[in-house]
Amino acid sequence: MQAIGDVINKIVKKRKLGNFKELKAEIVTEPKIAAFLSKHKGELNDKIINNSLPNLYEFYVQQRQANKIMTGYAPELFLSNDVIAVRYRPTAAKLSAERKESNKQHLRLIDLPERLHEVQLSQVDVAPGRTEALAAIKRFLDLYQNGRKPHQRGIYLTGDFGVGKTYLLAGLANQVAAMNQEVVFLHVPTFIAGLTSHFQDNSLQAEIKRVADCDLLILDDIGAESLSQWSRDDVLGVILQARMDNILPTFFSSNLDLEKLEAHFAETKNAIDPVKAARLMQRIRFLAREIVVSGPNRRKI
Ligand code: ADP
Ligand code: MG
Repeated sequence: MQAIGDVINKIVKKRKLGNFKELKAEIVTEPKIAAFLSKHKGELNDKIINNSLPNLYEFYVQQRQANKIMTGYAPELFLSNDVIAVRYRPTAAKLSAERKESNKQHLRLIDLPERLHEVQLSQVDVAPGRTEALAAIKRFLDLYQNGRKPHQRGIYLTGDFGVGKTYLLAGLANQVAAMNQEVVFLHVPTFIAGLTSHFQDNSLQAEIKRVADCDLLILDDIGAESLSQWSRDDVLGVILQARMDNILPTFFSSNLDLEKLEAHFAETKNAIDPVKAARLMQRIRFLAREIVVSGPNRRKI
């Protein structure tokens, strides 16, 4: 084995860094290294420090240079068996990026803008018209956390266009996705309008099942869709029935209150059917309770 001093001297020569003593002095005064040495003063002596110089040098280079060994990891010194060693830990930025990626994988947005992935409940300002909705969502999350109460009744948020219903539900969706639960957030009018293209298709049945079986389902803007008997009974009706049978949390947003939604469901493209509408409403009332969100139209701002 070569003497440590020789190794360092070679590095010094190769990199034209001046002499060994000067380099050592520079290494041990690098602020993070100096802090480490001072913190572990009681456990260290000259021999340990000299034996550790190659590692300290590695750390020193990593501190000073942009050519990190691995981006997303930061070096850290630690004392192990009488030698100071270097280990690499993921940086906060990397951990946060990973968390974001994991959230993305757990939250499926169907016919909704990607930017909803970014909405955090903590960023939602507590304006008077939304305190009840926010409190109810937080209560839901408290009970839902750590799988404590996975089968809870959801919320039907109703209120005018632009008051922030979709935004609030995006905050909920991201929080549940962060718990590694499968969330589907679906824009009902666009989803229903797109169905005709694969009418009776097997892939449609599979898609309906995926939507119906997820841990948390959010049906956005229900009531704004143009329904046929088929899309009402064989798509929406089937999804809601499955949610009810399995008591899976389901949230809604709508410009219509529940009473108006019933009238909307009664009228399809070529028939009026209050009985079918009432059946659908029973499922929605079972799945969620109505909360009104009010306030200014934020889309104008
Ligand atoms: P709704 O679904 O009730 O029609 P949205 O949730 O789409 O309303 O909100 C309307 C607009 O206001 C959106 O552009 C949204 O990003 C913005 N918005 C809503 N709530 C907030 C909030 N608390 N903070 C910042 N922007 C918000
Ligand atoms: Mg909306």
